[in-house]
Amino acid sequence: MLIWGSGGNTLQLGDAGVAHCPACEKDRMFKNVLVYRYAHIWYLFNWVTKKAYFKACEICGRGPEQDAKAIEAKLGKSPIPAFRRYGGFVLLGLIALAIVGGVVASKQSTAEENALLDHPQVGDLYTVYVDEIVPDAFDQRTYGVMRVAQINGDTVSLQVPNIGYDKLKGVFADLRGDAKNESYYAPGTVQLSLDKLKQLHDANSLIDVTR
Ligand SMILES: [Zn+2]
Repeated sequence: MLIWGSGGNTLQLGDAGVAHCPACEKDRMFKNVLVYRYAHIWYLFNWVTKKAYFKACEICGRGPEQDAKAIEAKLGKSPIPAFRRYGGFVLLGLIALAIVGGVVASKQSTAEENALLDHPQVGDLYTVYVDEIVPDAFDQRTYGVMRVAQINGDTVSLQVPNIGYDKLKGVFADLRGDAKNESYYAPGTVQLSLDKLKQLHDANSLIDVTR
């Protein structure tokens, strides 16, 4: 569940000397303060949404807003704690890492599949768009399992399934059971070269190899 919210804080930045306060109509001690708001996700990931520096009367709290750039230049760094300012970037970083991790995992899996396609074995199960490999087998976009029946040099003979699906989910269920049975396939085979298999894999028409 996404828990998010916002908060605010006032930081005291030291004395600003005595000056006339128009609200109190008296000479008052003034303080430099920084007022800021922040947003958070899961309380951990924070970022600043608004900030303003004031020279504020010690008694009534009012006073003129100051130029933020000038004050920060004088302070050398922002007085707002780093986790409030940059926590959100940590979240963005984690999301980026997760995406990169996913891409790397998918590349690794592609490399494994390429190795399996380079050296096919009888019984290998290919998850494919059947209609792209056997155009007359099904009359629409169909996922299915094709099984390696025979290998002759660079030519692989594949069995065509009797059943196809419009969703990959159906195929994945069959890979665990039915697709290992002879009755799952129609009689006869189609022949494809190793190069053609790799082309189909590159084009993502051959989606997965199961051995
Ligand atoms: Zn005042």
